[in-house]
Amino acid sequence: MNQFTVTGDTASFIAARIAGFQTEADARNQWLTPFVAEYSALPLYVGWTETIGIRANGEVVTWSTEGEFAGVGSVHDQTMVLISLVAGSDRYPELRRLLPQRGPGAMDCGCRDVPLLASHKAFCGTCGGLGWLPKQDEQDRKAKE
Ligand SMILES: [Zn+2]
Repeated sequence: MNQFTVTGDTASFIAARIAGFQTEADARNQWLTPFVAEYSALPLYVGWTETIGIRANGEVVTWSTEGEFAGVGSVHDQTMVLISLVAGSDRYPELRRLLPQRGPGAMDCGCRDVPLLASHKAFCGTCGGLGWLPKQDEQDRKAKE
């Protein structure tokens, strides 16, 4: 899931946000502008030393903001990919269409009862901030993949 399938509208949206980042980003995220320009990726999740972003082709990449590694890397932790997309969707609702859809039999995640997690001030490591978990047999199937 390091690569999302993005349709024309979503690809155009991401490309436009990357191109306009310097003028559109709030003051708190202005410092990311050189990274956005260099790596052609829209920041979704800004961590302490790394930022995870999405490119217009749907590729999810990470880069170090502390010089720990050069260029971009892949994000292998699927929960981090999900957290990043949930965080990005809070800022850019157009990206919600990339989130997994809640299927029949899905269960509410316990984080819904934890205000800090439910408000996305912090992200749940179990559901990635979605607030629900897939039906158990789907989880078992994914674990075997
Ligand atoms: Zn949760």
